[in-house]
Amino acid sequence: MSTSASAPATPVRPQLRWGLAAYVVLVLAAMTLAIVIPKTGYILNISMQATTYAIAVLGLTVVLGLCGQINLAQAAFFGLGAYAVGIGQTEYGVNFWICLLLGMSLAALMGALLGASTLKLGGHYLAMVTISFQQIVTLVLINWIPVTKGPDGVRAIPRPALLADASNYLALCIAVLAGCGYLLWRLRDMRLGRAMRAVRDNELAASVAGIDVYRTKVLAFAISAVLGGLGGGLFAGGFAYVSPDQFSFAESVVFLTMVLLGGVSSPIGAAIGTGLLILIPEWLRFLKAIPGLYLAIYGTAVILIVLFMPDGIWGFIRGQLDRFKRRAPATGAADALTFSGGGSGAETVLELRKLSKHFGGLKAVDEVDFTIRRGGVHALIGPNGSGKTTTLNVLSGLYKATSGSVLLNGQDVTNFPPHARTIAGLGRTFQNIRLWRTMTALENVVIGAERPGSPVLEDKDALVARARAALAFVGLDGRADELVSGFSYGHQRAVEIARALAADPVLLLLDEPGAGLNSSEKVELRNLLKRISARGLTILIIDHDMTLVSEVAQHITVLNFGRRIADGYSADVLRHPDVVAAYLGTAPDVAA
Ligand code: ADP
Ligand code: MG
Repeated sequence: MSTSASAPATPVRPQLRWGLAAYVVLVLAAMTLAIVIPKTGYILNISMQATTYAIAVLGLTVVLGLCGQINLAQAAFFGLGAYAVGIGQTEYGVNFWICLLLGMSLAALMGALLGASTLKLGGHYLAMVTISFQQIVTLVLINWIPVTKGPDGVRAIPRPALLADASNYLALCIAVLAGCGYLLWRLRDMRLGRAMRAVRDNELAASVAGIDVYRTKVLAFAISAVLGGLGGGLFAGGFAYVSPDQFSFAESVVFLTMVLLGGVSSPIGAAIGTGLLILIPEWLRFLKAIPGLYLAIYGTAVILIVLFMPDGIWGFIRGQLDRFKRRAPATGAADALTFSGGGSGAETVLELRKLSKHFGGLKAVDEVDFTIRRGGVHALIGPNGSGKTTTLNVLSGLYKATSGSVLLNGQDVTNFPPHARTIAGLGRTFQNIRLWRTMTALENVVIGAERPGSPVLEDKDALVARARAALAFVGLDGRADELVSGFSYGHQRAVEIARALAADPVLLLLDEPGAGLNSSEKVELRNLLKRISARGLTILIIDHDMTLVSEVAQHITVLNFGRRIADGYSADVLRHPDVVAAYLGTAPDVAA
């Protein structure tokens, strides 16, 4: 175990249980109202549309809100669910629930396939792929007439016998929506949800923290699609009729607008956005006498909201509420942070064998050999552009080695992707800080602690305790619940180091941790490095500050033009004539 029992854990918040109880009561009340209140068909239709749409919009809070991946095909997934329930029942006499499950499975499969395209694509290209998928589904619905009935659509879609009455069916839709909303609200603070947010904020940092970025994106797409399919399936039962135009690209844009309007990062936002975009047109109905005016007002309202509330309506409200949040007290739990040192007692932690990395003709790293012994600090130095960062990037898997190999704890990790190397015990920080900027310091460090294979992984309290201990270790436990985007440079670096420490690595790689720090912050850094080292964690540090290097490092490797020009005990290396000529003889570099 890496965390002592005395480490403070987050207390289970009693408000949370009351909150959940209140939520259940609220949902039951809404369901009862839906059943007992006499309604016109008009009200029923609007409510049915709002609840089923909201389920699909919830999907977008996962793929776009949590994971940051654009999806312009939600209407297609909605359509897959709807047609499965429509065709399955009317043509093949399959049970409603089975049809619903089939539709969701089909949507999940297609969603995962679409997510799979993120391996090669991102941004605008991904948007194009989702639009193409949307168009393909629309074309199939229109043209595959023997199966889909084409533009005529599918009619007389039944509901389950118990729910044949529209009011009861609406109550079901409300229950499903509420259940999905609750699960997604929980998802945000589950491991997968945090992984998604990390991918959204900074993919590179996510992969280096041990997150399988690709898998996370595929899952986000699949979950989003399942919710689309579920919403669509319920929609088909609600309206008894489906046709291709209900699931066109325009509807995907409507779904997207709904989620952006309400607030993409929360299920509550999804519900608000859906409700508003379905209700606003109804409220503005009286304007329809003057053609065009209605659309103009509607469009202007949406633009204004998105412009002045970039995080949507709910994001805006939450921003106001957050101002009343209390700060967490400092825990003083620094002593609770321990390192297992990777278990194995072998003397060598890392070995580079003739490692090369070429960029076209440029040999950024050229057949470099060195070994890092367990315990202590090993420095990698050299003039700017000598290949230090590139070596670190090859080590951590961000670059593929041109040739040579990397052995970590005796295991050949040369062909491992970044997250697998982290799992194998590599931890690192970046020359230009890479934190997840929309998250708190604690959330950043918790993701570090969540390294797959970590003993604290399955125990939420131990996990948070370890993260708090890591923050305390770098002196930031008092700011655990603040967003890192508001931190000074020095504190951001400290959070990055805490994130790496929390993972309990075998070897910690630090790329110019002193760059950009003022002199008092540098003193703190030096003390921090000594304290880490004193706890038995091996460090490989790149730094330009020769005072720092000579004070903390026992071993030094020197690179110049990508080649190793010296390697050995600090005192010997620093006296080496080649080193003096190539590096120390020149004026000290400004950090790259
Ligand atoms: P250092 O960290 O020692 O200052 P780097 O490892 O960043 O040096 O760079 C070594 C050399 O490799 C430099 O000439 C740099 O321009 C080149 N280089 C680094 N990364 C890339 C890249 N992604 N593509 C092309 N050239 C690169
Ligand atoms: Mg560098």
